[in-house]
Amino acid sequence: MAVRNLSVTETPDHAPSRNRILAALPAAEFDRITSGLEPFALLVNTVLYEANSPITHAYFPTSGCVSMVNALDEGAVEVGTIGYEGWAGLPLLLGDDRMPTRAIVQLTGESYRITAAAFAKAVEKNPAFARLLNRHSLALYNQAAQSVACNRLHTLESRCARWLLMTHDRMRLEEFVITHDSLSYMLGVHRPAVTLAAGMLQRAGLIRYTRGRVRVVNRRGLEGVSCACYEITRSNYERLIRG
Ligand SMILES: [Zn+2]
Repeated sequence: MAVRNLSVTETPDHAPSRNRILAALPAAEFDRITSGLEPFALLVNTVLYEANSPITHAYFPTSGCVSMVNALDEGAVEVGTIGYEGWAGLPLLLGDDRMPTRAIVQLTGESYRITAAAFAKAVEKNPAFARLLNRHSLALYNQAAQSVACNRLHTLESRCARWLLMTHDRMRLEEFVITHDSLSYMLGVHRPAVTLAAGMLQRAGLIRYTRGRVRVVNRRGLEGVSCACYEITRSNYERLIRG
C-alpha cells in the first residue's frame, strides 16, 4: 500500500509556527512570509554560511541547533547559539551579506529558509517581522556579549552546565547527541578539560554522558551549577521576544 509522504508543513513538530519568531507574527504577516519559505533540513556539520562569504539565505530553525563560530589559527570558539527561538542570517537584516563568523549546524534538526532577495522584500513589507528580527538581533548580541564575560570569568564546570541548559532548551529533548570534540569547540577548551567538567556533572548525578549522548537527569541541579549567564541570557531573550 502506498504511504503518502507528509510535507514538512503538514508535520506539526516542524510546522513554521514551531519557530518562535514566525509564531509571534500577526496572522496576515505570518501567512505572507511563510508562503515564501522552503523547508530545509539541518544536518549536523552543514555550513549554512561560511565566514566572510556571501550569505544566500536566512534560516528559521524549528528544531536542532546552529552555532555561530569564530575560527582563528589557534582554534575555533562558539560565539552564539541559534535554535527554534531565533533565526540565522543577521547581516541580511543589517545591510550587508557576510560576517566574520561561520554558521554551522551542531545538532540535527529542521528549518525553513528564504532567499536573501525575498528576505529583504519581506522585511520591507512586514513591519512586525522587521521589529521582531531587530529585537532578536539585540538578544543575539547580548548572548555573545554575555559569552565573552562568561568565558573569561566563570569556571569550566559552570560554563559546561550553562551550555547544556541552553542546548536542552533548544532541543526540547531529554537526550541529545554531542561529541567531546564538539563540546570542547563550543566551550573553547581542549578535550581533556571537557572530560573533566562533564565527569564532574555526571558524578554529581546531573547528566548521563555516554558514547556522545548527553541525557539531562537533573535539570534543577544543572541550573544550580550553571553561572548566572544562563538566566541573564534567557530572561533577556524572553523580554525582547515578547515586547
Ligand atoms: Zn557565565
